[in-house]
Amino acid sequence: MKQLVTKKSHDAFAEACKYIPGGVNSPVRAFGPVGGKPLFIASGSGCKITDIDGNSYIDYVCSWGPLILGHAHAAVIEKVNATLQKGTSFGAPTILETQLAKLIKEAIPSVEKVRMVNSGTEATMSAIRLARGYTKRNLVIKFDGCYHGHVDGLLIQAGSGATTLGIPTSPGIPQDYARNTLTLPFNDIDAVKDVCNRRGSETACIIVEPVAGNMGVVPPKPGYLQGLREITRKHGIVLIFDEVMTGFRVAYGGAQTLYSVAPDLTTLGKIIGGGFPVGAFGGRAEIMDCLAPSGSVYQAGTLSGNPVAMAAGIATLEKLKGKDTYKTLENLSKKLGEGLETSARNAGVPTCHTRVGSMLCTFFTDKPVTDYATAKKSDTQRYAAYFRGMLERGIYLAPSQFEAVFVSIAHGEKEIEATIKASTEVMKGIK
Ligand SMILES: *Cc1c(COP(=O)(O)O)cnc(C)c1O
Repeated sequence: MKQLVTKKSHDAFAEACKYIPGGVNSPVRAFGPVGGKPLFIASGSGCKITDIDGNSYIDYVCSWGPLILGHAHAAVIEKVNATLQKGTSFGAPTILETQLAKLIKEAIPSVEKVRMVNSGTEATMSAIRLARGYTKRNLVIKFDGCYHGHVDGLLIQAGSGATTLGIPTSPGIPQDYARNTLTLPFNDIDAVKDVCNRRGSETACIIVEPVAGNMGVVPPKPGYLQGLREITRKHGIVLIFDEVMTGFRVAYGGAQTLYSVAPDLTTLGKIIGGGFPVGAFGGRAEIMDCLAPSGSVYQAGTLSGNPVAMAAGIATLEKLKGKDTYKTLENLSKKLGEGLETSARNAGVPTCHTRVGSMLCTFFTDKPVTDYATAKKSDTQRYAAYFRGMLERGIYLAPSQFEAVFVSIAHGEKEIEATIKASTEVMKGIK
């Protein structure tokens, strides 16, 4: 193992800090939770990224999920290039928008109509406005540790970035906003029943990550999502599945297909943009048609449905639709998950391993992780040591305990084996 030299990244970070708050354009990119300084990336190809000092890493962040095909996938680059030549934005409809909408609707049966936006945050923000406009109610129920973007009313007990930075909520959010958001523990159906029995008639929507992926990976307990469906139906509450991370990730049709539960609205992002800034929200036509211009709930975007971003999304979904993609992902991810678990067990390091398809997590705790409270029991110092050891061995994990490991179709058996080997070495050194 050679010493990792990252001088150019360190210099670039110092320079960035002069102009950009904290040197990064999104807090989770900073290495705060694990110590050290972020790497500056020069290029990516397949499952690997190369930093500006010339070090290569097997990448399990995959731009925080979008790059399920790996970096610079030929089909995506080709379609993006061809689209780019014809112009970058028109602020008028293009056929590409309908094509991507159609692909999404075909993949996710609960989505009858879909509106494109520019980020996952915009998608959840708009979906909530729509749910409130449709129901004429104000209250929103969310779950501790679920992250739905940095929307004012949702940045309450919001997982990952907020968790590792120790910001339970953020300054700048009026108390009045927070008052309209109720947070409950994830995976506790009785808590939902109880609140809805008391306040169901005031509640516009329940928003949930059907597989929580922003407090590490926490799968839903059997029957939990079905339970949410029953309660929301009973009280006339709009059920929103935030599938920004899980859509086209845990299955082509998202978590709702995997668990056979149809929400009223679904928010999407990440994978559907193929590495470009895209979000979307969709669902029952009756609700979606409340949006302007067909209805009165206002929502708009200068660059929404941007042709270049649509092209990347279409190329990505078409590739994913191919035979056996998810089987391959499942096999690779299973092998990785089991290998990581064995590496910890053999070294006697207490861990809890979770996985749904190609999203997985190693929590440094010996207790089962089922919600935010149990996720927070993890030893983040141990994770930091693990992260650093892996990085030195050319494995790029998320710089936070409370994030997922993402496997792409560009990861091969060889890289999975190299990762397990690295983990075996690193776990032995964890105190
Ligand atoms: C990433 C994420 C978001 C926010 O998406 P951005 O594009 O970062 O605004 C929202 N919800 C979930 C579940 C996410 O994982």
